[in-house]
Amino acid sequence: MAAAKPVVSAEALKTRLERFSRLSLADLPTPLLDCPRLSGKLGGPRILVKREDLTGMAFGGNKVREFEYSVAPAIREGYDVLLHGAASQSNQSRLTAALAARYGLKAVMVGRRDAHSRPVNGNLLLDHLFGAEVHLVDRAEEKDRVIGRLKAEGQRVYNTSTDGYYLRSISYVDGFLELWAQLRDRDVRPDGLYVCSGVHTHVGLVVGARALGVPLRVVGISPSPQDDEKDAANLAGVANTVAEMLALDLTFTGDDFESHGAFAGDGYGVLTDASREAVLLAARTEALILDPVYTGKAFGAMIRHIREGQWRPEQTVVFVHTGGTPALFAYAEEILDSNPSRPR
Ligand SMILES: *Cc1c(COP(=O)(O)O)cnc(C)c1O
Repeated sequence: MAAAKPVVSAEALKTRLERFSRLSLADLPTPLLDCPRLSGKLGGPRILVKREDLTGMAFGGNKVREFEYSVAPAIREGYDVLLHGAASQSNQSRLTAALAARYGLKAVMVGRRDAHSRPVNGNLLLDHLFGAEVHLVDRAEEKDRVIGRLKAEGQRVYNTSTDGYYLRSISYVDGFLELWAQLRDRDVRPDGLYVCSGVHTHVGLVVGARALGVPLRVVGISPSPQDDEKDAANLAGVANTVAEMLALDLTFTGDDFESHGAFAGDGYGVLTDASREAVLLAARTEALILDPVYTGKAFGAMIRHIREGQWRPEQTVVFVHTGGTPALFAYAEEILDSNPSRPR
């Protein structure tokens, strides 16, 4: 890819980001780990891992960086409740509960009663530990009932999925600046970047790269099956709003986003063979802990692309480790099931 002209300098972009209010939650910068044993094993490119799993607070992950921006309005404006509803092993639920504990707010989680809600372990255990009011429900409408009850009680409810939505992507424009400074310090020019993302991490990294004029293939792996073309168009829409919020003279279309839903397999949170292989390979070559729901699937995609010859040994690829570590413990049986070295 040819280098494009930067639309803004790194310093000017930083100044624009500083106009947003921000909580101080994450240990930054997160490390950038070189993985020579993994590269050797795959006969592939140099692989660097951006350790967003080490953002610090409550087992870390990309939500810690996102919440610095996206939950700042809730604290500033004196909301009473932080709410989140998703799968029982949601990392976002865990960090919503952790943040509420730290700021003395009430946390309400509406988790799904699903394959990983019993026995209580992983993220769900941590939701309880942080003192969240936890509801496990079978149908999504039950979440609306819980929200309705809280509002009837006169509580101001901040939903960490929908409120501050665009600010979550803004946080990863900042994340890109941080990564880029680290790469420049090491004199590394990466050719590609892999990230597991529904929306925000992917959008933020692409907007950051384009703003600085950095030519980079950013490969987004969705944790859920999707229509890739529709998803790319949706990501472009979010990116255009983010560009506007940062006063960047940039326009995005679906062509600017490479997003794959096929690596999600049968569904969100359902383990795939490739994800299991990735979790084991990362652990056994680099002592790097991935999770089965997000990073295992994205890492599996990267391995697949390397094996297909999409990356050559002289190239460099960055894998953004978005966290998710606690969910691993709720998948113990499945991870070990087809594993020949399983203790018996
Ligand atoms: C939430 C989450 C993602 C996706 O985050 P986006 O905000 O959609 O980019 C990826 N990985 C892990 C581990 C997560 O918890």
